[in-house]
Amino acid sequence: MRIAIVPGSFDPITSGHLDVIRRVSHLFDKIVIGVAVNVAKTPLFSLDERVELAQAAVAELANVTVESFDSLTVEFAVAKDAHAIVRGLRAVSDFEHEFQMAQLNRELNASVETVFVMASPEYAYLSSSAVREIAEYGGVVKSLVPPVVELALQKKIASAKGG
Ligand code: ADP
Repeated sequence: MRIAIVPGSFDPITSGHLDVIRRVSHLFDKIVIGVAVNVAKTPLFSLDERVELAQAAVAELANVTVESFDSLTVEFAVAKDAHAIVRGLRAVSDFEHEFQMAQLNRELNASVETVFVMASPEYAYLSSSAVREIAEYGGVVKSLVPPVVELALQKKIASAKGG
């Protein structure tokens, strides 16, 4: 069985992530989205919220599941019997960091291959941090995230403002 993991912070999952996940779901038998516990900055959404939103967003994709992980990415891949780590590339600016991580991960475990998927042009500008910022200032995120995330952002911002 060809299994791949798609690791990330998913704070929150966006239409750009979903586009990559949908596209690779046709290439592998099984995809496990790995929501990383270890986020450098304090995330807007808790780990449980990030997992639940990702689960709701991929509910219609039969071969995609969501789990959290608190280990090295390659260790999570091995634990899931995956031979591939899928990462999305939006711009040249993503490249250096991704290249470095892929080399390090290969150093740690050469049997796990990193596979890069180019962002679709309509999502090439999209990031979770941009979505968080737009939502915080009351902007419209409808086309940027699945409906379940749009709702969760509205609730989160309202409760942060005490409303
Ligand atoms: P991380 O904190 O590990 O970068 P993210 O949740 O921000 O986690 O992203 C997870 C993966 O999805 C990364 O490979 C990232 O490059 C990719 N990604 C994020 N946004 C997009 C997008 N709009 N299009 C394609 N790939 C994306």
